[in-house]
Parts: sequence; structure tokens; C-alpha cells
Amino acid sequence: MTIIDGKALSEKILIEIEKEHSELEKKVGRKAGLAVIIVGENSASQIYVRNKIKACERVGFYSETIRLDENITEENLLSEIKKLNNNSNIDGILVQLPLPEHIDELNIVNAISAEKDVDGFHTTNIGKMMIGDESGFLPCTPAGVIQMFEEYNIDLKGKDVLVIGQSNIVGKPMTLLLIKKRATVQVCNSKTKNLSEKLQKADVIVAAAGSPKLIKATDVKEGVVIIDVGINRVDGKLCGDVDFEEVSKKASFITPVPGGVGPMTIAMLIKNTFKSYKQKINKSK
Ligand code: NAD
Repeated sequence: MTIIDGKALSEKILIEIEKEHSELEKKVGRKAGLAVIIVGENSASQIYVRNKIKACERVGFYSETIRLDENITEENLLSEIKKLNNNSNIDGILVQLPLPEHIDELNIVNAISAEKDVDGFHTTNIGKMMIGDESGFLPCTPAGVIQMFEEYNIDLKGKDVLVIGQSNIVGKPMTLLLIKKRATVQVCNSKTKNLSEKLQKADVIVAAAGSPKLIKATDVKEGVVIIDVGINRVDGKLCGDVDFEEVSKKASFITPVPGGVGPMTIAMLIKNTFKSYKQKINKSK
């Protein structure tokens, strides 16, 4: 059994970006820049934003955090986004989700210039992903999972893959990227019947339900590949959707939580921001 080390892989990606960025910065005279907008005081969001900014600093990017009151109007939030769209020092804009209920998330995500949408949530980038136009930005979590498969030479062609969860940010884009790798994909949600039966037949399982210990050793077959996207807090400790201790005894590859998909998501955000920076440099030539 091999533990897929997302922390080490993300570190490798960040080191490469740091090096390439420092050379480019000398030539063009400015750093790549990421702006993160956070609305309200959601404690998980605060941690995620802090980690994203830390990664920016780690690779030498410029970063800005814009903290807004949770009662901000949608109109005022839109005007903050407009300023960042027009700011030539900013290559990537990210609005940390979830937003307070009075704000329409889709409106906000689509107000970000598609060319700066480094989360890959803008309708234009989702469309580009759908048809395989590589000029767009891929959503960070599924893109990170694909990088893990590639790094560990896990061939998906013809494999039966079960994706658990069908959200816009994980399950659905994950499915599209797996299809592109020629996998045969089945997608489950909380209404799916006989989940255990489906789990037992899968060669690869991508779990993104947000339900601790949803997947147990008796659910999976010998040699299964397990990607655990879930982040749950149980008794103050982080865990995924998979019973790691037991399932790892049967798996051929498995990601841990923490130290698996989480750091890869951040590395992909940095990668997208760097891609946007390079696209802008090429455009201005
Ligand atoms: P979500 O709540 O939007 O979607 C969860 C999906 O799982 C839904 O489609 C739901 O129907 C399905 N589901 C829930 N229980 C199920 C069950 N028992 N059987 C089958 N399907 C079930 O969540 P999300 O935003 O997609 O996130 C999913 C999980 O991944 C969460 O734990 C989240 O914290 C984590 N996450 C991790 C990262 C990372 O970087 N590691 C990034 C994003 C999300």
C-alpha cells in the first residue's frame, strides 16, 4: 500500500513555481498577485484563507486579503470585485465561499473577470473545462486530485471510478476531469441506493461527501485506489470520509487527511495564479 503524499507533492510544485516566478519577476518587474476576499467571520474560512496567503508568501507572490463585514451589500461586494478586476497588479481573485445568505454566490463568482478566476468557478471556465479548452482555469481540488494520479502513475483508462458527492466545486468537475482521462465514472449523492454495493465494485473511489468514516474496509475491494477529499472535524481532530486505518490495509493507494488533497488544492490555486500571470505577460508582448 502506498500513501499518496499530497504535502510532499504540493511542496515540489511550489518549489518549481517559486523558481520560475523569481526569474520571470526579474524580467517583467512585477510579482504575480493574488487577492482574496473574505466576508464575515466563518472560522473554517479564516483558516483556509490564511493557508492560501501563506502559500503565496512562500512562493514570493504579492497577496492582498480584503476583509469585509458579513452585512456588506451585494452591490458593495460587486464594486470591490470590479476594483480588483481593473487592478493590473492582481492576476488572481478569489472570493472565499460560503458567502452570507443574502448574497447570490453565482452573481459574485461570475462578476470576477474569467481571466482572473483562479478558483475556476466562473461559468466561462467551467465551460472551457467541459470542452477541454486549456486556456481556462480548472477548479483547484479536482485538478489537484488529477495531479496526484499523474504523479503516482495511476492509469485511469478503462477503470471503474466512483465519485461520491456531486457539488459544483468538487464532485461535478472531478467527474469531467476523470472522463477526460477515459475512466468510466459513476457519481453518487446522498440519495444513492446501495452505496456499499457500488463501492465494492469500484477500482478507484473519490470520496467528497463530508461524512466521517462513510467508507469502511468492508465496503471496498482489495487493491482499490482511494482519494479522500472530505474534511471533517471529529472530537477536535481532522479526518476524511474514509476510515483510513482500516481501509488502508486493503487499498493499493490512499490519501491521508490531513496531508492529502488539502495541500494539493492550495498548490493548484498557486499554479492557476501563476498561469494567469504568465498569460498576462504573454498578452502584453
Ligand atoms: P457539499 O456539501 O456541497 O456536497 C456534498 C455531496 O456529497 C453532495 O452531493 C451530497 O449529496 C453527497 N453526499 C453526502 N452524504 C452522502 C452519502 N452518505 N452518500 C453519498 N453521497 C453523499 O460538499 P463539497 O463542498 O463538495 O465538499 C465535500 C467534502 O470535501 C467536505 O468535507 C469538504 O470540507 C471537503 N472539501 C475538501 C477540499 C480540500 O481541499 N481537501 C476542498 C473542498 C471540499
